Amino acid sequence: MSEGQDELVVAGLTLRGITRGGIQTCLMVPELDLMFDVGGSMRGQLRFGRILVTHGHQDHLGGLPYLVSQRQLSGLPPPQVHVPAEIEAPLWRIFAAWSEIEGFELALDLVPHAPGDSVELGRGLRASCLRSVHRVPSLCWVVERSSERLLPRFAGLAGAELAALRQAGERVTESVTSTVLAVTGDTQIELFEREPQVRAARVLVHEVTAWDQRRTVEQTRGWGHTHVDEIIAVAEQFEGEALVLVHRSERHSRREVEGIVRTRFPASVRDRVHVFGG
Ligand SMILES: [Zn+2]
Ligand SMILES: [Zn+2]
Repeated sequence: MSEGQDELVVAGLTLRGITRGGIQTCLMVPELDLMFDVGGSMRGQLRFGRILVTHGHQDHLGGLPYLVSQRQLSGLPPPQVHVPAEIEAPLWRIFAAWSEIEGFELALDLVPHAPGDSVELGRGLRASCLRSVHRVPSLCWVVERSSERLLPRFAGLAGAELAALRQAGERVTESVTSTVLAVTGDTQIELFEREPQVRAARVLVHEVTAWDQRRTVEQTRGWGHTHVDEIIAVAEQFEGEALVLVHRSERHSRREVEGIVRTRFPASVRDRVHVFGG
């Protein structure tokens, strides 16, 4: 972990990176081999060949040309970069311009997405995207894991008995899917209110940019963000294991926001709330 980076281990996932409103956001999750957004340059990014992008604001995507160039110089294959469809064409123009400046062709595999699309990640994992609510076209990324579970009526049977049933053509397992991670990107609270899958994610990485009245709820919404008052009002609807709050603005210290979590969040959810971002 390099300077300024934060690290949090929750529900079997390591979250690593920096996410500060208006400054930079990049979240690396090694267990899923995924990086969300690439708002700046930081140690550890190079190894991620697949990047899921929430939206095109520079604090979330400004580091992409540099990362693509660095991977190329290191002899790594072009990264697969999944973006909102609306920013595909301007990104190609940016890469054409950088290729001209650098004197060599920058290579990347840019994949445009509309809400509802999904990406197979292998190992039973799949990422899909939902429309989040921001000032520019934006996506919330949701990672699901499918696994086989023994059908309840066969619980307690010995391995040999199960094998015999299988041999006889009986289906002894069923496929179950759970949402292991959701990353909202920048969004207003309507995403949480509208999407059951977001509220049910085991780990929900949700933005909260404003944490007091220096920016009112209305002002915060005007910029397409979430105010702490809004998430406190709905926090009890969160069903998962960890609600990870990111993207606080420069106005707020970590200590200050951790104090707000302890004193203002409902007791039923408080212990599952984490502050992250460096
Ligand atoms: Zn942002
Ligand atoms: Zn933004």
